[in-house]
This record gives sequence, structure tokens and C-alpha cells, in this order.
Amino acid sequence: PTVLGIETSCDDTGVAIVRSSTASAGGFLEGEVTSDFLASQFDLHATYGGVVPRLAARAHEANLPLGLRHAETSSGLAGGLADVDAVAVTAGPGLAICLRHGFAAAVQLAERLRVPLVKVNHLEAHVLAATLAAPEMRFPFLVLLASGGHTMLVLAKSLGLGGFTVLSTTLDDSLGEAFDKVARAVRVGDHCAADAGLNADDPSRAGAGAGADSGAGAGAGSGATVARTLTMAEAAAAGGECDLRGVVETSKGPPVGPSRDDGETVAGHLGAALERLAADGDADAVPLPVPLRGGGGKHRGRAAFSFAGLKSAVVRVCESPGVDVREREVAAAIAASFQRSAVTHVSDQLRLALAACDAGAVEGGAASLGALVVCGGVAANSSVRAAVAAAAAEFGVPVFAPPPRLCTDNAVMVAWAAARKLHSSEPAALADACWEADFSPRWAPGDRQPVYVPKLR
Ligand code: ATP
Ligand code: FE
Repeated sequence: PTVLGIETSCDDTGVAIVRSSTASAGGFLEGEVTSDFLASQFDLHATYGGVVPRLAARAHEANLPLGLRHAETSSGLAGGLADVDAVAVTAGPGLAICLRHGFAAAVQLAERLRVPLVKVNHLEAHVLAATLAAPEMRFPFLVLLASGGHTMLVLAKSLGLGGFTVLSTTLDDSLGEAFDKVARAVRVGDHCAADAGLNADDPSRAGAGAGADSGAGAGAGSGATVARTLTMAEAAAAGGECDLRGVVETSKGPPVGPSRDDGETVAGHLGAALERLAADGDADAVPLPVPLRGGGGKHRGRAAFSFAGLKSAVVRVCESPGVDVREREVAAAIAASFQRSAVTHVSDQLRLALAACDAGAVEGGAASLGALVVCGGVAANSSVRAAVAAAAAEFGVPVFAPPPRLCTDNAVMVAWAAARKLHSSEPAALADACWEADFSPRWAPGDRQPVYVPKLR
């Protein structure tokens, strides 16, 4: 099927089209991205130290028409939008006032095109993004999902109802949150020229150098990315009252495949800036705890995540007398030390989970897993990817990760997740994905959804 996807769950507005078929030798569903629009709002929120839902919602309102127009004019399809078989939309989890805008736009478009609307779970979309680059990946697979709002281990058994089981979650913060908090604590924007605007507490820096600069990073490797800063007049003409500096528009790119998993960076994310800073730092310089090690807590022996203590330890270091994070070497050392502790914790917990699979949690043991998948925004981090690959290798499980561009929020993963469900031979997968007229801000992966049988053309 050819699916148009819409993503507005948080602070990225995405509209993308994925055309998929089973033409290849293996008979697996393979997707080709024919159109991809993504407008990020990191500048908009930079001065506030986090995403401001009301501002995010207004930016979605302004950006959605641009995204939809982009899809109309550069669908990459012979028949234009008339070739679209279904509209997919992130229906949750996410910020209600943001989801609302994407959902309304999706309903309108589906009605206009007279095609079914598929509700997509944002977390399942993060997970399934891995299968766009690796169509041959088979169930069951174990997933580490590490994003801005979630950090969890998921066992994916099928695309159908109850096919995704959440095995463990974080006891406190998500890994992405910890990266973001630490990035602010070490004033990452002072040290990464290309990420100006990232210092939350310094409004004078917000926006400087954004736009074309930030887009350049996002497009590295694909060669087909158009990045530019909208003028206020253009933004107003597009119906927006918001400051849209930093809008990154990606035009039609090559099909996403393993070969795109190169040195692409995801510009604009605090975590990505922290990763770059950490690359220049001495990880031995600052002793930091590895969470959930030692002690006999009730989670001992069972995989779980905790990042709040580590995050606070880093903040304490940054605020201690004699430590000046404005010195690049100091900031880089703290960043590197934090990243190593966090990644070591992730490795520990993955090994526990894989060992549990071996001990019977999964029939046939870890070796019967089709894959270990790492996804969500933090999966763009190369240390995290390397740690996951190492754990997978120990247990003889192949590892898959979406290319960095598909790790952070985007509409391609939404369209693709819907395509997988539409194509699935399990009717339950389609029923699960289909629509009753509302979005669901709290929707756990694999949870049942009310069923609406769509009118097919
Ligand atoms: P959720 O998917 O849980 O609803 P979200 O959609 O806001 O949350 P994502 O877009 O999946 O989150 O991920 C964003 C998070 O990933 C941010 O915390 C960001 O700092 C982090 N991140 C992005 N790139 C990197 C990187 N290279 N290293 C570490 N963290 C990163
Ligand atoms: Fe996300």
C-alpha cells in the first residue's frame, strides 16, 4: 500500500509518504519514502528549557498546511495524492493538544481522498521504523525503546492485538530526558557552535545560527534535503503566528535502506549535541554512579531503568565549587562521563533481559529472537548503538536500529507502521490499527483499540 503519514505527538510536525510492495525476492514488505516533510521546533522551545505544549500546538497548526502542501506538490507518485491508499496518523501517546491537530488534519484528508484512516501508536511506530531498513527482520524481537518520553524494553511478537508486551520501563526519568537535562547543565550550546540556541536559560542565544545550519546536519548523507529558515512573513502567510525559525524541510530522498545508516546526524536535539561534546571528553575524569548496580533493591536481577539519580549526580557535579562548565574541557569530561554511566546501565539491563529470555521468558531462549532492536530518539546515539550491538553479539542475536534520521520523531515511521499493519495477514492487526473517531494521549504499545471498519475504495 501507499500510505501518507502524519506526526504531531510532540514538537515535530511530520508529513510523509511511503510506498510499499513485496516485489523483492524474499517476499517481504519493503517501503520506499517518496515524500518527507519534517518541521522541528527546537528553537521555539529553547528559551523555555523544554517543550511548551501550547506553543508546540500552535506551531503544528502553522506547519501542518506546509507539510500537506509539500505532500501534494512533491508526492513522488505518478497520480499524486490520488495514489494514496490510506492516511496514517499518530494517535498517541503524546501531548493531547498536539495530537489533536494532526488527528484533525488526518481525518480531513482521509475524507477528502476517500481512503481509510489508520491510527498509529507512536511507540509502535518507533519500533517498526527498524523494519523499514531491515524488511527481513522476523518476530519475535526484543526492543530497547529509548526516547524523550519513554525508556522501556518491549517484546514484539506480532503485529496483531497484544503483539507488543512491555517487559520493563524506567522507574523515574527517560534516557532522553536525562540527556537533555545534562546537556543543559553543561551548557552544551556554549560548546557546540552548530547548535546555537540550545542554552535553555540564555534567551539571547536562542535561534542564533539555526535554520540553514541545523538543516545541514539533518541532511548529511541523503543529498536531497532542502533546509531553510522561513521568514516571519512566510510563516504568517502560512497561517502561523509562531516564530518558525529552525524549520527544516526535507524533500524527496532516496529510499531508506541499510546503506543510509551512515554518519547522519540529527541536528537540533540536545542529546545529539551532548553526544558530540562527549566525543571530546575524558570519560574517566568524573566518577559517576552506574544506576541500579549493587545493593539489593527489589529490581535486583530483573531488568529496569533508572536515570534520575545519575542525572542529579551530574547536576551536583556541575554546581560544585571549582567546577566551571563554561570551560569546554570540563563540560566535555562531564558529558563523556555521564554518557558512559548511562550507556553502561543500559548494557547491564539489556544483558539481564537477554539472560531472562534465555532462562525461559522467551520460548527457545534468546537465540530464538529474530532481532534485538534499538529505537527512539536516543537510538541515534552511537555509543548506545554500539552497546546494544555488543550485548546482542554476546547472545548471538542480530541487532537492528533505524537510521538516525528515523530514530527521532518523523512521519515516515508513522506511514510505514500503518503500511505494515495494512499489509499484515493477521486481520487483528488491521482491526487494532483502525479508527474510532478520536486520538488517545495515553496509549501503551500493544494495547487494544476500539475498532472501526473503514470504507475501502
Ligand atoms: P516519545 O517518543 O517517548 O513520545 P519524543 O517523541 O519526544 O518522546 P524522540 O523524538 O523519540 O522523543 O526522541 C527525542 C529524544 O532523543 C530527546 O531527548 C533527544 O535529546 C534525544 N536524542 C536525540 N539524538 C540523540 C543522540 N544522538 N544522543 C542522545 N540522545 C539523543
Ligand atoms: Fe517519539
